[in-house]
Amino acid sequence: MSDLAGRFGRSSRTRAATGSSGSPRLRDSFGSTWFWWLVLAVAVLYPMISNTTYIFFVAGGVGIYSIVGIGMNLLYGLGGQVSLGQGAIVAVGAYVAGGLIVHRGWGMWPALIVGLLAGAVTGIVMGLPSLRLSTWYFALTTLAFGGVVVGLVNHFRGLTGGADGLVGIVVPMSSKQLFYLVVAINAVGLVLYRTFAQSRLGRGLIAIKEGGEAGTVSGVRATYIKLIAFGISGAYAGVGGALFAFEQQVISPDQFTTYFSIFFIVIIVAGGLGRWLGPVIGALAFFAIPEFLTSLAEWRMVIYGVALLAFMAFAPEGIMGAVETAWRRVRRRSSAAEPAARADLALDPEAVVSDSAARIAALLKRRAAPDGNPSSGALVVDGVAVAFGGVKALQGVSLQLEPGRVYGLVGPNGSGKTTLLNVITGIYVPSSGTVSLDETTLTGIAPAKLAKLGIGRTFQTPRLLKDLSAWENVMLGSYSGEKATAAEVLARLPRNRRESKVLGQRANDLLEALGLADRAGARAGDLPHGHQRMIEIARALMVEPRLLLLDEPAAGLSADELEVLDRLVRNLGGGGVTVLVVEHHIGWVREVCTHVTVLDQGTVVTSGDPEAVFSDRRVRETYLGVSA
Ligand code: ADP
Ligand code: MG
Repeated sequence: MSDLAGRFGRSSRTRAATGSSGSPRLRDSFGSTWFWWLVLAVAVLYPMISNTTYIFFVAGGVGIYSIVGIGMNLLYGLGGQVSLGQGAIVAVGAYVAGGLIVHRGWGMWPALIVGLLAGAVTGIVMGLPSLRLSTWYFALTTLAFGGVVVGLVNHFRGLTGGADGLVGIVVPMSSKQLFYLVVAINAVGLVLYRTFAQSRLGRGLIAIKEGGEAGTVSGVRATYIKLIAFGISGAYAGVGGALFAFEQQVISPDQFTTYFSIFFIVIIVAGGLGRWLGPVIGALAFFAIPEFLTSLAEWRMVIYGVALLAFMAFAPEGIMGAVETAWRRVRRRSSAAEPAARADLALDPEAVVSDSAARIAALLKRRAAPDGNPSSGALVVDGVAVAFGGVKALQGVSLQLEPGRVYGLVGPNGSGKTTLLNVITGIYVPSSGTVSLDETTLTGIAPAKLAKLGIGRTFQTPRLLKDLSAWENVMLGSYSGEKATAAEVLARLPRNRRESKVLGQRANDLLEALGLADRAGARAGDLPHGHQRMIEIARALMVEPRLLLLDEPAAGLSADELEVLDRLVRNLGGGGVTVLVVEHHIGWVREVCTHVTVLDQGTVVTSGDPEAVFSDRRVRETYLGVSA
C-alpha cells in the first residue's frame, strides 16, 4: 500500500517500469491509502461495537446508498454520463424484489438476483437515449424516466400498493445480518468497479467521456461501452433497491422522488468524482443528512443544491481530494523534499532500450507481412473530395502508397493534409472518391473499426487521456486487439489475465523503445509536449498497424526527441509498415521519406522523389514559403 505522499507526485514522481511487466497506473483513481481504509474500518467496526439494532439499521442504509453510488460513479465519474434517474432504477429493484416476496412468496436470494437483473435491464433501457443525445438533453430524459417509473408504480396499485406502499416485505435476516450483507456487497462492488476501471472497458469509457477521437482511432465502440456501463450501474442500483426493500420492509413511491436520484449525485461529488472509494466516503459523510432532512423535507432540494454547488466550487475533487490536498500541504511544510524539478524530463536517445525496440519491430513486421511477404498495407486514395460548406478542403485527391515505405505529405496550412488523414480514418466521409487498403474499401466503414484493419494514427495536437498515466494511454491502443469479452474481463478469467499481461508488457516495450520507460506511471497531461507526441505514437503502434498515419509528429520536438522519432520511423518502414507523415519539417521529410506529395488548396501539386520535389522552384516559392 502506498503512502499518501506517493499519490501527490503526479507530475514528477513516477514509478520506474524499466524492464518490468508492471502496469503503472495513476494511483489517483484508486486511492488505496491507509487513511481512507482507516475511515472505512471505523465505519464497519462502529456498528459492530455498538451492537444495537438501530445503528445496524442506519449503517445498513448508508451502505445501500454507497452501493448505488459506486454504480453511479462508474457511469458519471468514469463515463461522464449524468443520470437523474438512478433513483428510479433503485425503485425498480425495490419493487421487483419486494413484489416477488410479497406476491409470490419468493425467498430473498432469488428476489435479490432478479432485482439486480431488473436494474441492469432498466439501466440499459434508460441509457438508450444517451446514444443519440448530448449530456444535458440526456440528463433530462433520465429525469422524465424517473417520473414515468413513479407514475407506473401509482398506476399498478394492485401490484405495488400505490401511494399506500408495498407492505410486508419480510426477509429472514436481522438488521445486523443485513448490515453484514450490505458490507459484503460493497466489497464486491468496489472490486468490480476497480476491475472495470483498470480494464480496456474503463479506458474506453474514459475515452468516450473525453470526447472520442483518442478512443475512436483505437477501436473503442462507444455504443457498446456506454450500454455496458448503463447495464452495470443499473445492476448496482437494482441490488441497492432490493436491499432497500429488505431493510425498509415497506416501500412507497414518495421514497423514490427526484431528490433521491440527486442525492446519489451529491454523494459521489462530495466523496470525489471518479475516485474509487469516493461514493463510500460520500455516503458516510452524508448519512446523517437524509435522517435530519425528513423534518426539513421542503428544504431538501435547497440543501442538496447548495451542497452540490459548494463542492463543485470549493472542493471539485470532493472530500477525498480536499483532505489529500491538506495532507500534502502539511507534509510539504514538514519536509523540505520538494519534488524534483523537470530537468530530468529531457528525452535522451540513449535511454531507448534497443531490446524493446527490436521486439516491437519484430511484432510489427509479423503483422505487416504475415506470410513473410510484405504485400499488404498498400493504400489507394482515389479522387477524394471533401467540402465544408463553401470550403473545398479536398478536390479530387489521388495517392497510392506501396507497403513498407515512408511517404511524406506536405503543403501550407489549410491545404487539406489533416482532412485527408481524417478521410482515410473514416472521421470524414468524402463527397466523392474512395479509399482502400489492400482491396478493402475503407470509405463508409465506421472509424472505430479501422484499428482492427490495421490503421493507426496520431493527431496534430496529441489527444491523450490527460488524467491517465502514460502507460494507460498506450494501453488504450490495444482496445480492439483484446480478444477477451467484457464478461471475461470483469470476472478476470484466465484468458483475460494472460492477454492483459502480454499487452501490458508490449506497452512497456513501446515506452522503452521510445525512451520513455521511466515516465510510464506519470500523468499524461503533466508530461511535456514532446513526450505526449511520443506516447500518442506508442498508442498508435499498439494497434499493430500495417498503415501508420502521423500528423505533424515532429512539431515541437527537441533535437533529441526528433532523433528518437527518426529512428523509429525508419525502423517501421524497414519492418514493412506503411507510413504516411504529414510534416512541416522539410529537412527531416527529405531524409526519412522515399516519396513526397505536395498538397495545395485541396489538390495534389506534385508528387515524387523528395529531392526532385523540393528542388522544384514552384514548390519552394509558392507552397513552402521558402525563397528559391
Ligand atoms: P492542413 O492540415 O493542411 O493544415 P486541414 O485539412 O486542417 O489543413 O484544413 C483544410 C481546410 O478545410 C481548411 O480551410 C480548414 O479550415 C477546413 N476545415 C478542416 N476541417 C474542417 C471542419 N471540421 N469544418 C470546417 N472546415 C474545416
Ligand atoms: Mg493539419
